[in-house]
Amino acid sequence: MSAEAASVHPDVSRVLIDEKALKARIRELGAQITRDYAGRRLMVVGVLKGSLIFMADLLRALGPEVDADVDFMAVSSYAGTASTGTIRVLLDLRENPEGRDVLVVEDIVDTGLTLASLTETLRARKPRSLEVCTLLDKPDCRKAPFQPKYVGFKIPNEFVVGFGLDYDERYRQLPYVGVLRTPSK
Ligand code: 5GP
Repeated sequence: MSAEAASVHPDVSRVLIDEKALKARIRELGAQITRDYAGRRLMVVGVLKGSLIFMADLLRALGPEVDADVDFMAVSSYAGTASTGTIRVLLDLRENPEGRDVLVVEDIVDTGLTLASLTETLRARKPRSLEVCTLLDKPDCRKAPFQPKYVGFKIPNEFVVGFGLDYDERYRQLPYVGVLRTPSK
């Protein structure tokens, strides 16, 4: 067993995206966002808690051409079988997004219900522009027709953890994105 394989968490069946690939792709996303918002002031909104590691890396990948400030939101999952995907805002922005260029940073888009609802909530507050950057996208799982502008990686329909993503609040600290061996409890 190689040293790298030995360091993989025993609950992870395989590493889907390793540290090196994450770093390289986040650098590309940062460059793209810097080009798109050059000369502007950007309000970067992290959706807690899953986005925390991605957000920190993405911010450091932004060039000096963009002036970024940081805010956070936390939302509850949509309830049960509701296909409307209404979310509850648990932690709201401290700054008013009205008239601002807002970039929402998310860990993963699965059904799309969370972000469809969150962006609707934010759009009602009249930002100048509103886009979403997600590290991971499971396009096969959509229940709401939501397409983020910036996507790190498209992944298959498997439950992943690491790099900020949890299962039952665990595994967020893993430096890679891996498939969880037993996502049942
Ligand atoms: P959506 O509303 O798009 O279905 O999913 C949004 C939330 O579901 C994500 O922010 C994340 O918390 C959770 N989620 C969806 N797929 C996964 C996954 O594969 N792993 C983890 N850890 N969370 C996921």
